[in-house]
Amino acid sequence: MLFRQLFDAESSTYTYLIADLITKEAVLVDPVLEQVERDRKLLNELGLSLKFCLETHIHADHVTGTAKLREATSCLGVVPENAYATCADRVIRDGEVLEIGSVSIEAISTPGHTDSHMAYRVNCTHLLTGDALLIRGSGRTDFQGGDAGALYDSVTQRLFMLPDKTLVYPGHDYHGHTVSTIGEEKQSNPRFTKCNRNDFIELMKNLNLPSPKKMMEAVPANERCGNLIRI
Ligand code: FE
Repeated sequence: MLFRQLFDAESSTYTYLIADLITKEAVLVDPVLEQVERDRKLLNELGLSLKFCLETHIHADHVTGTAKLREATSCLGVVPENAYATCADRVIRDGEVLEIGSVSIEAISTPGHTDSHMAYRVNCTHLLTGDALLIRGSGRTDFQGGDAGALYDSVTQRLFMLPDKTLVYPGHDYHGHTVSTIGEEKQSNPRFTKCNRNDFIELMKNLNLPSPKKMMEAVPANERCGNLIRI
C-alpha cells in the first residue's frame, strides 16, 4: 500500500493519499480545494489513477477539492451516510468497506464533531480519525449538529476499542504532530484521560472557540462537493 499524509498550512488540514501499488488505483481522503494542483501533480508523478474522493465529514474550515478533482479525473465523490451533500456520487455507511485494489478502507461511524462523521480504518493498521480524535485533543462540537456526549462515546466506545498499535492519523493538527497510536491516545489524551463523559461535555461547552474563518463559505460549498457559490 502507498500511504501519504499531505498538509494544507492555511487550514491545518491533513489530506491522505492511499493507493494500491499494483493496480495503481488511488483514493484521496479530505482533499482541499487550494491543494488540488499539488494532489494532481503527485498522482501523475506516481502514475496513479484517482478512483474516489472520500470525506470524513462536511467541513466548516476549508472547501473540499472533490468537485474540481472529479471534473479533472472522473473520480467518484463519497460522503458519509446522512451527510447533506446531494452532489455526492455515493454514500458510505458504518461498517461498509471501500476496496482500492487490495487495500480496504472500512467506515466507522463516529458522530459528535458533526452528526454524520466517519473515521476510516485502512488495512486494519492506519486509522484516519477525521475531526473526532485529534492527537492529544478532539474536534469541536459547537456547530453542525455537534454533540459532545456523542463524540465522547464515539471515541471511547468505537475508536479506543481498536488495537493499541493502530496508527492514528487525524484530520487536523495545530501543534506539529503527524501521527499517534490508539494506545498512546488512550494513555495521554487529556480530553479522555482526565474527563469522564460529564466532564467532557462541560469542557466542550466552555471552550469558547471563534468560528472558523471560512465557515460561511465552506459549509454551503461542501454541501455541493466544493462547488463555490458565486453571487
Ligand atoms: Fe471539521
